[in-house]
Amino acid sequence: MNYKVKGTYDVLPHESHQWIELERKIREILSLYNMREIRTPMMEYSQVFHRESEGSDMVTKETYNFLDRSNRELTLRPEGTAGVIRSYVEHKLYATQELEKVYYIGPNFRYERPQKGRYRQFYQFGVEAIGSSDPKLDAEMIILAYDFINRLKLKDVVVKINSLGDDASRANYQKALTAHFLPHKETLCKDCQERLEKNPLRILDCKVDAQHPAVLSAPSPLDLLNESSKNHFEIVKEHLKETDIHFVIEPKLVRGLDYYSHTVFEVDAHIEGFGAQNTLGGGGRYQNMIQEMGGPDLGAVGFAFGMERLLIALNSLQIDFSKDLELDVYILTTSLEMEKPATKLLYNLRKANWVADMNYTQKAFKGQLRQALRLKAKYLVILGDEEYAKQTVSVKNTETEVQETVALSSLIEYLKDKLEK
Ligand code: AMP
Repeated sequence: MNYKVKGTYDVLPHESHQWIELERKIREILSLYNMREIRTPMMEYSQVFHRESEGSDMVTKETYNFLDRSNRELTLRPEGTAGVIRSYVEHKLYATQELEKVYYIGPNFRYERPQKGRYRQFYQFGVEAIGSSDPKLDAEMIILAYDFINRLKLKDVVVKINSLGDDASRANYQKALTAHFLPHKETLCKDCQERLEKNPLRILDCKVDAQHPAVLSAPSPLDLLNESSKNHFEIVKEHLKETDIHFVIEPKLVRGLDYYSHTVFEVDAHIEGFGAQNTLGGGGRYQNMIQEMGGPDLGAVGFAFGMERLLIALNSLQIDFSKDLELDVYILTTSLEMEKPATKLLYNLRKANWVADMNYTQKAFKGQLRQALRLKAKYLVILGDEEYAKQTVSVKNTETEVQETVALSSLIEYLKDKLEK
């Protein structure tokens, strides 16, 4: 027997309607914000993700890297932003569009320890506003994330924001963190001891040391913002206050990727029974990636939501947001002779845009009926030899159990009248 790869899952036929509806909603809401979809490959040359500046666990420890048959170094994308920026630069989209607002939907791959809400292949939808450093756009992204969550009717959700400041502020913050953690070095986990040398910011989102007293007492980047960074963050907050969105300042929020500067934010679910993986999504501003990829010195801001977690949240709140496929009509036949007329009738019903089907496994009428009722078809159309000889069929409403004889020639009209009510 074959099994699915560890950390992956199958979306089964009775579950897929939720995914389809979630994707539909994403597209609908994002188009209100003048965003268009971008589709980039699931694999990129490794250097797209493995940039010198990126020392996050996600990139250094969790990526699926492999050589193709011509020994090219490739990586399955662990996140959406780097591929989008690679594409933006490669196609010189900055030359034609001052500000490019895009979204993407698709799978990412990370070699993480699987648990509820954490998989090795998982879907994200994400947005990027590329080409501007205007803090109003940071606010717009947070507003969009909040609006999205609100439209999904996810209530017990908190929007947390923070600022890491510009490169100079960030560098000062790194220094302050090093000074803060150095006396505690021996008591930090092994990884964090290494992080202290290379990238002390990453200590703050270490899963092992999350409750370490030194982590809890660490300084906030807000303490080290220079004037222009403070000003940037003030403008973000002022614009957020023009709306009714609820946000809290989370002074220790740093997010798990190294490319962020200035505003970072996260949307957490506080939903009962949701589990430990309660971050629905997050993002922030990134100012250096476009240049690192060989493009001009332009800023960008974006975020991504995990789609599995959105569905877990919707389901644990029992929000009825999508419907499984429902059959309008199911055809039953009383003999082998009726099978060809049934094929013709089925073809005509579908041409008239009804969701229709018949049975391909059960010859006995009883079996056909059982299947029709299991599928909750709204109407049964019974093709019987004698009736068919008179060019009529029986039509039964499965809810009211009313059965009528209808002329084949007026069947479509009859169903139209009934089903459209
Ligand atoms: P990140 O790209 O790490 O900032 O994550 C953004 C969002 O993607 C998270 O808040 C999660 O909802 C989702 N996510 C990240 N990693 C995983 C994973 N391994 N499995 C499922 N969802 C994930």
